[in-house]
Amino acid sequence: MEFSFSQLDERIQKSLEEMGFVEPTPIQKEAIPLALEGHDLVGQAQTGTGKTAAFGIPLVSGISPRERGVKAIVLTPTRELAIQVAHELSLIGKNKGVSAFPIYGGVSIERQINALKRGRHQIIVGTPGRVKDLINRGVLRLDRVRYAVLDEADQMLDMGFIEDIEEILSKTPKEKQTLLFSATMPYEIRRLIGRYLKPDYKNVKVGKQL
Ligand code: ADP
Ligand code: MG
Repeated sequence: MEFSFSQLDERIQKSLEEMGFVEPTPIQKEAIPLALEGHDLVGQAQTGTGKTAAFGIPLVSGISPRERGVKAIVLTPTRELAIQVAHELSLIGKNKGVSAFPIYGGVSIERQINALKRGRHQIIVGTPGRVKDLINRGVLRLDRVRYAVLDEADQMLDMGFIEDIEEILSKTPKEKQTLLFSATMPYEIRRLIGRYLKPDYKNVKVGKQL
């Protein structure tokens, strides 16, 4: 049976309706059912194909609003992307009571520390440098994480974030789901996949389309 949004939790359906999402995009059609089944995922698709909801919908589906602590860590290359992705994930999670918070460098860390201490957000979306910083200060704990997402992995690599990414992943539990998205698959990305994804991960590759 082909995936449609009608198969999702009603609260998520309602959010997607409010966002104007009627039909899943091609990458969402392929990736969401696989991620909901618990598979690790490698998604290769161009910008604008709907990758945020492709991982955001499974994350929100798998997280209960009653759970305490950070359940998902999403790494993005830039602050703009962190803000945008956290916003979209919070919209998807709105009617279920699941929310995302962005953390990034170049601004005061205090507000981010306070937000993390309050612990109202199950999903943290951040740039690798600031995420590492907040982990090392003891305010961001990833020991309850069940989802790790690397968004725009090739771009993070180009920006020199590889060591930070590996350090962050090493702070998450081994039993979790890892989803990696990248427009290209250079050697270093394939190496990351080999190191951090389960050997039976699924590949999803689609052309540009919305
Ligand atoms: P990518 O991460 O692949 O570059 P985004 O996830 O940012 O793409 O999605 C691109 C745009 O398409 C965003 O404005 C997003 O809100 C919108 N979008 C994503 N999925 C859908 C959908 N199923 N229906 C309508 N719009 C969508
Ligand atoms: Mg994206």
